[in-house]
Amino acid sequence: MRCAIALAHQGEARDGANPIGCVIVRDGAVIAEGFNEVDMLHDPTAHAEIVAIRRAGARLQCHELRGAVLYTTLQPCGMCTMASIWAKIGRIVFGAGRGDVHKMYFEDRHLDTLDFIRDAYRKDLSVAGGVLAADCTRFYVPPEAVVPEAEQFNR
Ligand SMILES: [Zn+2]
Repeated sequence: MRCAIALAHQGEARDGANPIGCVIVRDGAVIAEGFNEVDMLHDPTAHAEIVAIRRAGARLQCHELRGAVLYTTLQPCGMCTMASIWAKIGRIVFGAGRGDVHKMYFEDRHLDTLDFIRDAYRKDLSVAGGVLAADCTRFYVPPEAVVPEAEQFNR
């Protein structure tokens, strides 16, 4: 998670990138990493997790990442949760949880992306949240912040 936090710092500092960091580890080695590149690439799918999953697949020349652990500074959105499920990630570890940040970081009103994991046809997938949560939460707008609707990511 400390590597993911370092990547979030990189995203924060880079023009057009965003402070969400992701690292994928398998067999004790980092196989891919990324930060949110949505604005940089003009690609709505370039979330940190998707960037890292794509790089892991390219590196391993395999679309299945069984046994891999995905570390991310923010609870994965629905797209990234589903991509992790399809990629056969074995464990998802996130820092800041949905309740720690403003609602604009998530696309759904009532579903929790953790429900996707609970409902998946996967018995070899686990999840843990709140890891170094305070260090991760500092990157994001807090839940109680008043953000004009026009500035909310999920509007
Ligand atoms: Zn996402």
